[in-house]
Amino acid sequence: MVRLNLVIPCFNEEEVLPETTRRLLALLEELVVDGMIDSSSSITYVDDGSLDRTWVLIEGFHTTDPRVHGIKLSRNHGHQNALLAGLLSVEGDVLISLDADLQDDLAAIPRMMAEFRNGAEIVFGVRDRRDTDSFFKRFSARSYYRLLRRFGVNVLQDHADFRLMSRRAIEELRGFGEVNLFLRGIVPLLGFHTAIVKYDRQARFAGKSKYPLIKMIMLASDGVTSFSTKPLQWSTYVGGVLSLASLSFGLWALSIRLLTDRSVPGWASTVVPMYFLGGLQLLFLGVIGGYIAKIYAETKQRPRFIVEKTLQRRTRPSASPGGSLPDSGTMRSVSAEHDYEAARQRSYETS
Ligand code: UDP
Ligand code: MG
Repeated sequence: MVRLNLVIPCFNEEEVLPETTRRLLALLEELVVDGMIDSSSSITYVDDGSLDRTWVLIEGFHTTDPRVHGIKLSRNHGHQNALLAGLLSVEGDVLISLDADLQDDLAAIPRMMAEFRNGAEIVFGVRDRRDTDSFFKRFSARSYYRLLRRFGVNVLQDHADFRLMSRRAIEELRGFGEVNLFLRGIVPLLGFHTAIVKYDRQARFAGKSKYPLIKMIMLASDGVTSFSTKPLQWSTYVGGVLSLASLSFGLWALSIRLLTDRSVPGWASTVVPMYFLGGLQLLFLGVIGGYIAKIYAETKQRPRFIVEKTLQRRTRPSASPGGSLPDSGTMRSVSAEHDYEAARQRSYETS
């Protein structure tokens, strides 16, 4: 049976945790009865350096019900890092990440499990409607997703961090060593068979948003600068255009000098080089930016490829440079993957 683990980052969530725990345990119960998950499935709260009674509550839940687990971070590391800490340290064949405030509709979880059963390694929860968000949040989110796509970043519109990942996908996520985390951008890079489950975003159950504008802006900027080096190229374009423009400006000044008697002495020789040199500087800043972009990409040391399956028989599993091969020494046929046991087995084989 599949062991499910719900991973929930919490920052000062004392107001919502009792209700969240009650509902999540009821959901686990339901899924166990329906035969979808194993009875050893659990909930893991990641306390992201809360200043209130969040950790005390988590300890209390754990005492009364051992299905509730907790991880306490040393200080506030931010939602993305807390989430990653949870994803990379908990056990389970399937992990589903969600927010503590019950904004992510729990009814979507059985549907996510159904997609996993159909062979999806990653299932993205996508908001169907955003009525419960403020106008500002809706507007800023829409423009932001558009901007990201223009920069060539592969993100899913209206998908936050409500998603299912199989053990297989989690192990590959380990290979991404970047410090400025933007999981929404990384997870689609993993590839594999994915699915989408739509849900209605609920209003926050209690308490205030723990994502003030400044944190949101920082996350947004990580999203751009961690995945796109386009901003570095801009100075090349601007510099190129400026240099060309100042050249024609110079020609124009020269023609005034030669063809008319309206020329101001010393003007062209001061103004034209100013624009020209400015343009040239920007142009070369852009060139340097190009090299920085390369250094930047190299230092991230992301895996260069992820192998989904292989068809050759290998005697001994060996680590391949830059990527990873599944550890199975047996041939796997595509047709076998349709049944549930095989889908589940797949997530064990690579763990
Ligand atoms: N969160 C966290 N660390 C932070 C900020 C938020 O772990 O520094 C958690 C928070 O407890 C919640 C989730 O991230 O479970 C989403 O935050 P929130 O609901 O406040 O954001 P919003 O839904 O308003 O965007
Ligand atoms: Mg929320």
